[in-house]
Amino acid sequence: MATGFEIHDLVWAKMKGFPAWPGKIIEPKPEVKRPANNKKVHHFIFFFGSENYAWIPEENIYLYSDHRDKFKLEKRVPKGFKEALEAIEDELKEKPFIKKKTDGGQNTNKSTETQTQAKRKRVSSSDDNPKQKKPKVIAKVTGSPSKITLSPEHKLKPKIRAELPSPRPEHNLPMSPPSHSYIQASLSPGNASASTQIEETLLKVKPVAKPSVIPTPMRIGFLGLGIMGQGMVMNLLRSGHEVTVWNRTALKCRDFVKSGAFKGNNPAEVVQSCDITFSCVADSTAVKDLVFGNYGVLQGISKGKCYVEMSTIDEETMQDVAEAITARGGVFLESPVVGSRVPALEGQLIILAAGERKLYDECYSCFEAIGKKSLYLGADIGAATRMKLIVNMVMGTVVAGLAEAMAMAEKVGLDQEDVAEVLSVGALSCPTVIHKSQAILSQRYDPHFPLQHQQKDLRLSLLLGDKVEQPLYVASAANELYKKARRLGYGESDISAVYRAASN
Ligand code: NAP
Repeated sequence: MATGFEIHDLVWAKMKGFPAWPGKIIEPKPEVKRPANNKKVHHFIFFFGSENYAWIPEENIYLYSDHRDKFKLEKRVPKGFKEALEAIEDELKEKPFIKKKTDGGQNTNKSTETQTQAKRKRVSSSDDNPKQKKPKVIAKVTGSPSKITLSPEHKLKPKIRAELPSPRPEHNLPMSPPSHSYIQASLSPGNASASTQIEETLLKVKPVAKPSVIPTPMRIGFLGLGIMGQGMVMNLLRSGHEVTVWNRTALKCRDFVKSGAFKGNNPAEVVQSCDITFSCVADSTAVKDLVFGNYGVLQGISKGKCYVEMSTIDEETMQDVAEAITARGGVFLESPVVGSRVPALEGQLIILAAGERKLYDECYSCFEAIGKKSLYLGADIGAATRMKLIVNMVMGTVVAGLAEAMAMAEKVGLDQEDVAEVLSVGALSCPTVIHKSQAILSQRYDPHFPLQHQQKDLRLSLLLGDKVEQPLYVASAANELYKKARRLGYGESDISAVYRAASN
């Protein structure tokens, strides 16, 4: 079908419910489904500033050169919009050929020279892959309507994919005490978690303004540079803390070291050389390996050493770790966090803490750097974990419900985009529903919160419910859906991939 646009055209593209955003028409990505049940002409748009893409109906697309100022926002400018504008303006400057308006911007003509230049440019440039350009934009964290489809992690992926070896091996290194050594494990990146690594450039971005943070002079250790650890360490460094990092896959430490962190060779060494050591790793098994393994945390603990466990695990393991640390004269705090990759990058997590009050107070500047709120829930170890599991039980059931709704919408002939729009403007509008419905629409499941961690949290919630004889019908049903999604191979994808189980 003839349309008024061509590949490479710079445009304003408007997603339903959001302001027009600077973009470019690119070749469709085969992995992104064309809109179903829709007779309208759509174009595949790359969005500047976020480096994500989506199908947009032609009626919502305007040639940028004709409408350069029309959609510029003066008030309530969403995060990332300014950067997107800068990026499209840069690209416009680079292009000597600009499509000119003929009839309202939707239809165009071109001079012969323009066509020739365009052809030359298309053959030689990497225009279809704007990720290779504009490190300045890549470095930004977006928080806008575009954040819905345009999230910072998408743009981080290519680099780490190049850095991490693949494919992953079938089995993990032996990580149970006493057979493994963290010195050995840290040399082998083979079984790294699927999280992407923060780009060097991201570490250099202008920090989210938190002028009130006065970094503690204490030496901070951080174990675990997964999705959450990366964001948290970045914010600790930005706010001026002295940080020593360790990760099972040592390669992930590299960019942080370039940005001023020290690198420990194993958990014991980090704990020994630091005053307070934080840990944020996958699950209870990882925590036990980390604490009780050879060269593990426990071997570095001596009188007065402080250890803060941020992983979401079961209460019993948390208590075992607390006992072991305090038995050696150490000080313990549990502090799981609420929020996922973007809040971690933006220093907007919610920190739930329980344990030694003095240690909680000593963590003040760190919690300020990584979070927007911290809550001390008492001395009782396990209280923060219980709170975290309750929160994630809600998260898991909400996203599972959304996935089922989207799957059903398609079956009953509704446009899923319309469903997402209705949800985004009504009483159910919240970041989770908005972001996850957009992930389902675009079929982009890059992990913000890995699905396998959500299923682990539901499983732990069900065990907790069992202990206190609380029926959990809804959470149980949601858990089954996540289990199915894992079986389908979506464990390391984002939680929103639960849609694949619902629609299958
Ligand atoms: P992730 O991206 O999957 O990273 C997991 C981390 O654990 C990696 O650093 C990994 O090391 C490490 N690890 C795994 N097994 C290990 C072992 N046996 N020994 C040592 N290290 C091991 O996970 P994440 O999303 O950062 O989550 C970390 C924790 O925070 C989890 O408990 C999760 O439930 C919780 N949480 C996550 C979110 C979220 O939205 N992502 C939000 C709140 C809380 P490698 O790099 O070597 O694989």
